Amino acid sequence: MYDPKSLKAEEFINHEEIMDTLSYAEANKNNAALIDSLIEKARLRKGLTHREASVLLACDMEDKILEIYDLAEQIKKDFYGNRIVMFAPLYLSNYCVNGCVYCPYHHQNGHIPRKKLTQEDIVREVTALQDMGHKRLAIEAGEDPVNNPIEYILECIKTIYSIKHKNGAIRRVNVNIAATTVENYHKLKEAGIGTYILFQETYHKESYERLHPTGPKHNYAYHTEAMDRAMEGGIDDVGLGVLFGLELYKYEFAGLLMHAEHLEAVHGVGPHTISVPRIKHADDIDPSAFDNGISDDIFAKICALIRISVPYTGMIISTRESKAVREKVIRLGVSQISGASRTSVGGYCEPEPEDESSEQFDVSDKRTLDEVVRWLMEMGYIPSFCTACYREGRTGDRFMSLCKSGQIQNCCHPNALMTLKEFLMDYASPATRAIGEKMIAQELNNIPKEKVREIARAHLAEIENGQRD
Ligand code: SAM
Repeated sequence: MYDPKSLKAEEFINHEEIMDTLSYAEANKNNAALIDSLIEKARLRKGLTHREASVLLACDMEDKILEIYDLAEQIKKDFYGNRIVMFAPLYLSNYCVNGCVYCPYHHQNGHIPRKKLTQEDIVREVTALQDMGHKRLAIEAGEDPVNNPIEYILECIKTIYSIKHKNGAIRRVNVNIAATTVENYHKLKEAGIGTYILFQETYHKESYERLHPTGPKHNYAYHTEAMDRAMEGGIDDVGLGVLFGLELYKYEFAGLLMHAEHLEAVHGVGPHTISVPRIKHADDIDPSAFDNGISDDIFAKICALIRISVPYTGMIISTRESKAVREKVIRLGVSQISGASRTSVGGYCEPEPEDESSEQFDVSDKRTLDEVVRWLMEMGYIPSFCTACYREGRTGDRFMSLCKSGQIQNCCHPNALMTLKEFLMDYASPATRAIGEKMIAQELNNIPKEKVREIARAHLAEIENGQRD
């Protein structure tokens, strides 16, 4: 039907195909034989197409949904073990020339204080994040060619990587900035970024244009083809996402999987991560402009289906979600979470008074990093601050082959334990440390290779004696 290789992203992820997919899914939502066969196919851990996954999303037979949840949980365990990677967002600037109707940074918003971090501010903010124990950041900025040109973003990245902290440096900077040119993506690659993240917001072109009425972001094709330009610029880890709540979720879900299919077909590697943000209350936003909010149950179903449809893709959830929701979706497939986030510019050093807030949206999970780390371990997850893949060049398809070869348990598992040990030694409260030490002792036994286990034991002893990466 549609050949993903010869079509541009915008042509491939097209309205007609999505609408046809939704009709096919609706017509088959009670087709038990088809649904069983799709669940069986997903058990092979090779993923599902957007049409197949859409049938499962439309299905509301309780027993089948429970089967999907069990499978999602199993696939997550097989590919990601019980590790959860930790990160924090760092807001550089809220200057923005776009008119996105759901975002308080939109340029008509006259009462939000506009702020941009200086390089000195960045040193302070990053030091505050390092003092908590963070090693991996996602930088965020509004789109403004005058206030936040690419040179500013590059300078910020350079500053972040150069900051010396007594417990080691920031080891990975992921970047969430507006769609840009191949040349600028190349510069970001040269600056040593990890993943380039860009949310599509919505795959519904007409709604996209209505929700982004002014500014460069209005251009749907330019936005939708950004990941292709990023890959052309040499960035092989890209992160997709839609902002759930703007459009009908079934539409977005099909679009998101089509985007992943497009990247895999054209570039030989699918998205490194998929984020699943839901729209939140924010300053100067009229909620009636979008009323497609989804329930926690639908949200969980989407997460489980992403997990079984693109098994090798990491899934990210932010502090937009509450502790209870995070608990549910971590089990079903999420592999990375943020902790102790501030969504205002400069917010890690100076929390702002409510009425003068420059924050982007309300955060639901307001716990400290120590609390989040302890909570994860209490549920049996290993909080990981590891960035080894990126530092050793295991990005793009090289990361995917590590995942596919099943070697993750001999590689990521010991690395996660070592970074957890560092966190326990340098930052944790006594209660967190006690749980963590017990967990490390138990989890060492889950490293399959005897030799790797020995090496991990030796490194843990070195960390105990004060050695740092
Ligand atoms: N300015 C960049 C762009 O246009 O892609 C990215 C940075 S922006 C700070 C990051 C993301 O925040 C956006 O892509 C959008 O999905 C999300 N966002 C904006 N307003 C939001 C809201 N009210 N609730 C939740 N997320 C929101």
